[in-house]
Amino acid sequence: MSPDIPDYSPPPAKAFTLATDLDGTFLGGSEADRRALYSWIDAHRDAVELIFVTGRDLAFIEDSCAAGVMPWPDFVVGDVGTTIAKHDPQNGLMIPDGRLEAHIARLWGEGIGPLASILDAAPGITPQDGVFRYRMSYHYNPQAFDPAIKPAIEEAGFDCLISDNRFLDVLPKGVSKGPSLMRLLEWLETPRHRVLVAGDTLNDLSLFETGLKGVAVGNSEPALIERITHRANVHFASAHGAAGIWEAIRVLGFYDIAANAANTNKEALV
Ligand SMILES: [Mg+2]
Repeated sequence: MSPDIPDYSPPPAKAFTLATDLDGTFLGGSEADRRALYSWIDAHRDAVELIFVTGRDLAFIEDSCAAGVMPWPDFVVGDVGTTIAKHDPQNGLMIPDGRLEAHIARLWGEGIGPLASILDAAPGITPQDGVFRYRMSYHYNPQAFDPAIKPAIEEAGFDCLISDNRFLDVLPKGVSKGPSLMRLLEWLETPRHRVLVAGDTLNDLSLFETGLKGVAVGNSEPALIERITHRANVHFASAHGAAGIWEAIRVLGFYDIAANAANTNKEALV
């Protein structure tokens, strides 16, 4: 076992794990679409493990969940895969797990160093608001961007991820949503066939590359679809956002898995 595993035991396994992106995916679709999905999750919470896999930071998730915008997740793979955190229901916080994140911190080291001033002066990117721990994130303007910047970032030893034609992330090499989710699932000992990943833009590509069953929601950006169109593990939903996830839960059989597990749990309580 890796010395970086957490110093507490993983929670008991649940029948179905939904590992979903937020913007455009879990938060996408109509208000009615979101309510339908969130109500089903709430009603089957003993059978459904919820993991957010997002570019958002923990503060956004804590605020949104506390305000009732979406259900609390059990875990978060946040900051484009550079944060791995667990929900602490006692105080309504998401707590980063230093052991699960240890390899990310090692890879990031002292940060981007001299690259920072190059990126500050680069056309077509401006720093996003927020305090970043193991990444740097920028607003991206494709018309003004100098394409030579991307290889410069990679030559400096980092990954450069452009998604939705709006965002540019500088990440520790090899770290993204998919690998960090796999690290979490490995610790949780979650059977792979019980997992559904969901996304809509290129920063979700690494989720689909894990080989886990996935859903690209109907509003996915064409650049993502182009990269995963050949993948047999992906369901290409016609419905948008939360309704696309709901479509995949039913089509791929997770609805029945969760319903059966919920019934079994109820019987066990009788
Ligand atoms: Mg998204």
